[in-house]
Amino acid sequence: MEKTLRGVGVSHGVAIGQVRHMGTAVLEPPTTRIPTEDAPREQARAKAAVDAVAADLIARGNLAGGEAQAVLEAQALMAQDPELMADVERRIAVGSSAERGVYDAFAAYRALLAAAGEYLAGRVADLDDVRNRIVARLLGVPMPGVPDSDEPYVLLARDLAPADTALLDPTLVLGFVTEEGGPTSHSAILARALGVPAVVALPGATGIAEGVVVAVDGSSGEVLISPSEAEQAELRALAAERKAALAASSGPGRTSDGHLVPLLANVGGPGDVAAALEAGAEGVGLFRTEFLFLDDSKRAPSEETQVEAYRKVLEAFPEGRVVVRVLDAGADKPLEFLTPADEPNPALGVRGLRTLLEHPEVLRTQLRALATAAEGLPVHLEVMAPMVADRADAKAFAQACREAGLEAKFGAMVEIPSAALRARSILEEVEFLSLGTNDLAQYTFAADRQVGALARLQDPWQPALLDLVAAAASAAQAAGKSCGVCGEAAADPVLACVLTGLGVTSLSMGSASIPYVRASLATFTLAQCQRAAAAARSADSAEEARTAAQQVLSGE
Ligand code: PEP
Ligand code: MG
Repeated sequence: MEKTLRGVGVSHGVAIGQVRHMGTAVLEPPTTRIPTEDAPREQARAKAAVDAVAADLIARGNLAGGEAQAVLEAQALMAQDPELMADVERRIAVGSSAERGVYDAFAAYRALLAAAGEYLAGRVADLDDVRNRIVARLLGVPMPGVPDSDEPYVLLARDLAPADTALLDPTLVLGFVTEEGGPTSHSAILARALGVPAVVALPGATGIAEGVVVAVDGSSGEVLISPSEAEQAELRALAAERKAALAASSGPGRTSDGHLVPLLANVGGPGDVAAALEAGAEGVGLFRTEFLFLDDSKRAPSEETQVEAYRKVLEAFPEGRVVVRVLDAGADKPLEFLTPADEPNPALGVRGLRTLLEHPEVLRTQLRALATAAEGLPVHLEVMAPMVADRADAKAFAQACREAGLEAKFGAMVEIPSAALRARSILEEVEFLSLGTNDLAQYTFAADRQVGALARLQDPWQPALLDLVAAAASAAQAAGKSCGVCGEAAADPVLACVLTGLGVTSLSMGSASIPYVRASLATFTLAQCQRAAAAARSADSAEEARTAAQQVLSGE
């Protein structure tokens, strides 16, 4: 095995420690048939195990809060899917044991998901995790997942299910490394929310033996195997240097010559507000409201429930800016009552604003709830639509906002290349743009964001993506309007400087990244950021763009 493995760094920091493997062994129950008269008892056992696992996932969610909670609750719903349960009961009725029935029914469902298209790749890990938990409970063996350990360790896994990342104890888990998972996968987003250094999409990661000492650099994406004492000391010194720079940085986001770039937080609900405030976020640049809708995929939360959640977030930033994104359902976030079940390619189907325009009552309720929540508060409320494709989309959204009597700025997310290319005409209808670089990369490179093997194409350093960012930012500048970035690109401290150089006016990210970006931005002048941006755009690959920008910024 090579001494240094290279993956994608998705959560900053350096971790040095012994590797512990995640308990992922697939528990295959025996195929022994059961007598027909035992079927009702086995069915009841299966049902009880499913319910217990769902309850456990919900309890873990309550403990974790924030975005993690929504993800875990979605997994609990998966466990209790009525069709899946009916299949389990059918299999038991014809002679399967409870554990074998669950095992086979999940396998059939998994095959269905896989055949439905690669967009569901990210959900397969969640489904396998649910299956393993139920089977383990039925067999009476320990739950698969995070190893029990009193000693701090580096967690290593093929892929991490949200249920595990949500419960990682940052005092025991020094960092984690996965073989699968892209830079914009849920696991990566959750790792950043936890503040645990992480590297994903690392080929050969699971080949590292249990107990081997590794050094994980969540910024560069490098994993050093069995580092020498000197190498460990060097890395620790680098980490200490970074930490000192972080501690020294506070206040608003700005370049060393005072060009202001507000640093905002991405939140999934009121549970994420405390971390945002602690990181010194100047407001919220992306409130992913769909997390409120994941509790029950069969209906929208009531207007009152929405008002309460929105108000809690708005109150936390008096006089600050809070950008709320209206519901982004569909594709990787399907909702039963809104998302068509039979789309051949959901990422290219009815999702985001398209869904809302087909269900105007859902949009109206959400906008009304926002208007009520903001009443009497000094907050600067901004509302934006996901997946705006063209001027007609922007116009329809702005009109819906006006009709709802919303006193807010209306904006459009730029997540589809057409929106970046025609930003000028979209800006005729709305007051600001926000670049969703996760989806923008997915659609620019036709590369599913859930598929770890395509990480190269989802890399936000890709010069083609930077060209689209530049197109949107300069259209906004010409129109005298703002254009922020709220995709994961904003969380990369070096790329944040490049985005600033491209003319982006604010950066929004998971709260744990804010101090890193603040410190990096404060190191360079606006002119240096602009030179780094020009160098990155002249490159032919993401790797070259990163190196070129780093060279400019380090004065080489
Ligand atoms: C994006 O696509 O970059 C974005 C911010 O939205 P989400 O990650 O929620 O799709
Ligand atoms: Mg998006």
